[in-house]
Amino acid sequence: MASGVEKRIRVKHLRPCATCSGRGGTGETRCPQCQGRGQIRRVQQSFFGQFVNVGPCPQCGGEGHVFRETCRTCNGEGRTSETETIAVRVPRGVTTGNFIPLRGLGDIGRRGGPSGDLIVLIEEKPHPLFERDGNDLVLDVPTSFTTLALGGKIEVPTLDGAPAHVDVPVGTQTGRTIRLKGRGLPGLKGGTGDLRVRLMVWVPPRLGAAERKLLEELGKAESLKPPRPGRSLFERVKDAFAG
Ligand SMILES: [Zn+2]
Ligand SMILES: [Zn+2]
Repeated sequence: MASGVEKRIRVKHLRPCATCSGRGGTGETRCPQCQGRGQIRRVQQSFFGQFVNVGPCPQCGGEGHVFRETCRTCNGEGRTSETETIAVRVPRGVTTGNFIPLRGLGDIGRRGGPSGDLIVLIEEKPHPLFERDGNDLVLDVPTSFTTLALGGKIEVPTLDGAPAHVDVPVGTQTGRTIRLKGRGLPGLKGGTGDLRVRLMVWVPPRLGAAERKLLEELGKAESLKPPRPGRSLFERVKDAFAG
C-alpha cells in the first residue's frame, strides 16, 4: 500500500468456449419454428375476444437461429468456466474499500454476449508493528522512565526500513505523541501522512537487588510523587502559594 505492487490473482470466470469459438454450436440455420424472427405470436380466443400474445421462440430461445449440432463442450452456452491468473497493478496509496475495475475480465455473456467487469476490492492486511489512522501511522514505543524524565534520543523503526531518531524532551509524560512529518503512508491523491510515535513508559517486570534499592531510595523523593487524581491544576497552584 505504501509503494504500490503488482499482484497475481487467480480468477474463475466464464470465457468464450474454445471448441465452438463462443458460438454455441456448428451448422447455424434459420429457426424453423419462428423463421428467424425469434418471436412467436400466439392467438388466443377467450370469452372477451381475441388476444395476441408475443413471446420468445421456445426452440431458438429468441435468437432466430438453431445449430445442426450443439456444442457438447459448453452445451450450447458458448462459454466455459476457466481459471486464469491475472496481473493486477495496485497503485501506491490505496486503502481498504478501494477497488480496481478490470474492464471485460468478468463473465462473458451467453453465446458471445458482452463481458462484465472484474472488480478487485482492496483489503488491508494489518501490519504487525504500525497501526493505520488515515494516512498516518501510529507506533507505540516502550520508553524507560529515565529517558522520559531526563530527555534523550531514541531510535524508532519506520515503514521504509530506515530507523528514525526521535528527540525526547526533558519531563515527557507517558502517552505523549511525537510526530515525524511525512513518514506515514502516501495518499491516493497525493500528500503523505505522518508517523506518530507514542512514547509509553516501560516498567521492568523484574528487578535486581541493586536496582530495587536504588528505586526504593528514589521513591522517597517528594518530587517523584505523582499528583493525586481529581485535583485540578488550579488547586495545585493554590497549594504551592499557600505552602
Ligand atoms: Zn425460433
Ligand atoms: Zn462450445
